[in-house]
Amino acid sequence: MRKKSFAIDLTKVKGEGEFQCPSCDNLISPDDDSEETYKIIETVMVDEDTLERMVIQCRTCKSIINLEGFDAFSEEDDMNIEVSEALPESKVGYRTLHTISQEDRTLGQVAVEYAQKEDVKAFKRLRKLRKGEPFKATITLLNAEEASFKSEDLQPIAKAVKKRFKGLINQDIFLIEEKGGRKNVIGKASDL
Ligand SMILES: [Zn+2]
Repeated sequence: MRKKSFAIDLTKVKGEGEFQCPSCDNLISPDDDSEETYKIIETVMVDEDTLERMVIQCRTCKSIINLEGFDAFSEEDDMNIEVSEALPESKVGYRTLHTISQEDRTLGQVAVEYAQKEDVKAFKRLRKLRKGEPFKATITLLNAEEASFKSEDLQPIAKAVKKRFKGLINQDIFLIEEKGGRKNVIGKASDL
């Protein structure tokens, strides 16, 4: 018999995240670590500490269930930080520029660089990189003197960038602030 496969969007699940198996109505609670009601088949991570989706199997009817929408459960709020589409001066596939804003207020810009053939070669021993994959992002925060960004303000910005450009890790994200026309290096997102 062919096993059925379903998708559950956790953002649409009320309460503590428990839901009924779409096939047999067995109540599945992701909080149940014993995995009595389900079995984890696969977990897909955004990065080292953020879950993107999970594939589980109902113990009762063996249906495969794809769980999505974990973002809604992540502790940190995304704080309405938005990363724009590529600006006109971007060179798609090489380097793209985007505006970072929060509730219509411009925070700064991010320049994203994408791996070229030679980068894939250069990184070979360190990391599995594919051509065209984002591998470096430089965030420049504008008017830093007015905003005076603190570490807890910077983390959600770095996170929004990481979320938008899949494949980036904290070590790839550099932060710079522009204060009174001068640029100061803040550091990498991994140091925040
Ligand atoms: Zn079931």
